[in-house]
Amino acid sequence: MSSQIPVKQIDPKTDASNNNNKQETVELYASRKKIYVKEVHGLFQRIRFFSLMALMGMYFAFCWITIDGAPLIYFDLPGREFHLYGATFYPKDFILLSGMLIISAFGLFFVTTLFGRVWCGYTCPQTVWTFIFMWVEERIEGSRNKRMKLDKSPNSPQKLFKKSLKHAVWLFIALATGLTFVGYFYPIRELIVDLFTFNANGWAYFWVMFFTVATYLNAGWMREQVCLYMCPYARFQSVMFDPDTRVVSYDPNRGEPRGGRKKSVNKDEAGLGDCIDCGLCVQVCPTGIDIRDGLQYECIGCALCIDACDEVMEKMDYPKGLIRYTTESELEGKPSKLARPRTFGYGAVLLAMVGAIVFTLMTRVPAELDVLRDRGSLFNYNGQGLVENSYTLKIANMSEVPQTYRISVSGMETINLSTRSEVTVASGEHASLPAVVEVDPEAIVDSNTTITFQMKSLTDETLNITTESRFVGPNR
Ligand code: SF4
Ligand code: SF4
Repeated sequence: MSSQIPVKQIDPKTDASNNNNKQETVELYASRKKIYVKEVHGLFQRIRFFSLMALMGMYFAFCWITIDGAPLIYFDLPGREFHLYGATFYPKDFILLSGMLIISAFGLFFVTTLFGRVWCGYTCPQTVWTFIFMWVEERIEGSRNKRMKLDKSPNSPQKLFKKSLKHAVWLFIALATGLTFVGYFYPIRELIVDLFTFNANGWAYFWVMFFTVATYLNAGWMREQVCLYMCPYARFQSVMFDPDTRVVSYDPNRGEPRGGRKKSVNKDEAGLGDCIDCGLCVQVCPTGIDIRDGLQYECIGCALCIDACDEVMEKMDYPKGLIRYTTESELEGKPSKLARPRTFGYGAVLLAMVGAIVFTLMTRVPAELDVLRDRGSLFNYNGQGLVENSYTLKIANMSEVPQTYRISVSGMETINLSTRSEVTVASGEHASLPAVVEVDPEAIVDSNTTITFQMKSLTDETLNITTESRFVGPNR
């Protein structure tokens, strides 16, 4: 299908009938123009380097770390257990996971309202991996100019070597990323052994390959395309911005009229602003935009243009900050407010959610007792003439250590548990315990009475839970 359509160009200032033969072909599809990003050094690049190292370090290390034999972070899908920082969560804790996701979302809204896209610029995995891949590219193929020259040059053994080496290193990083990701769902030490001895299951191979290919393509080939066309956050961020949001901006009051000049030229006498129109801010931009055109959805807030421009300002003996973190209000000469209805709103929801999660975590009981009444028979009389009901006790130990529990029952006179009353359950395990409760028929007042099962831990004396059930006896 053709991606071109002929359109008639009409100049609104003139009569359309004067242009009725003028047609132009407009491309509906614009092929991607490769961006050659220039490396830059400066304060924000240093901040990114440290945030990058910290995040990458955590990502690659956490799946290897265990605390008292339990993994630091591990999602055991078949076992339906999630290990997070020494605590084990089960499907019944899903509400906590939902709460954490809501906190993350509101945290992102709150920070975006205050400081724009700092998440994108410093911590988003797409940015982190793209910067690593670009760093590798710069080390192997050289500076921006050298890379452009290399791409234009005819094929040669040297070009082939550099390109092959770059892609091999990219693939190695992508494979390490894929392996690590799957290592959060499949014990990492076993995963590596199983994969290389061909003993892992097919899904493990599939997901490692999937994440390897996705990392290689996203960070090596697609780069800014992911931010521009695939990430929904770039599209809806503008609704979180207001005139007091601090974002990377060019100061046109200071910079304009822009123009090239020698350092010795007096800009005031020449009638020029501080921007020397060197284009460095565009060359360092990973999304290839010109920040001097104003706030654009393509800007990921990486602040590389600030570092580049500050370097130029320093060389020209002009004050730094022609491009800086500032607000629309400040650029218009008005004061900026940190506290405003939007930040209060997001902040209040965030605080409420954090409070609720902390409270839920603090009061969370790491054990569960479910009592299932045997529906096969209402009641029996045993050899001593006592009325018996049968139950199955489902016990879950959600703590990090084995627990011995003692079970008792109350709610009626003479009520007694005639079966085993103690059970030991390993950490993270479930146990099923048959239980028979007996009552003297003389003590039965009602044919259907509420009784209470109590489970106390002998290992941890603070652990004590109760669950209600029914005791059925003969009609009175
Ligand atoms: S880096 Fe600074 S001086 Fe150079 S073009 Fe950009 S804004 Fe102007
Ligand atoms: S304009 Fe480009 S370099 Fe500057 S912050 Fe935005 S994405 Fe980064």
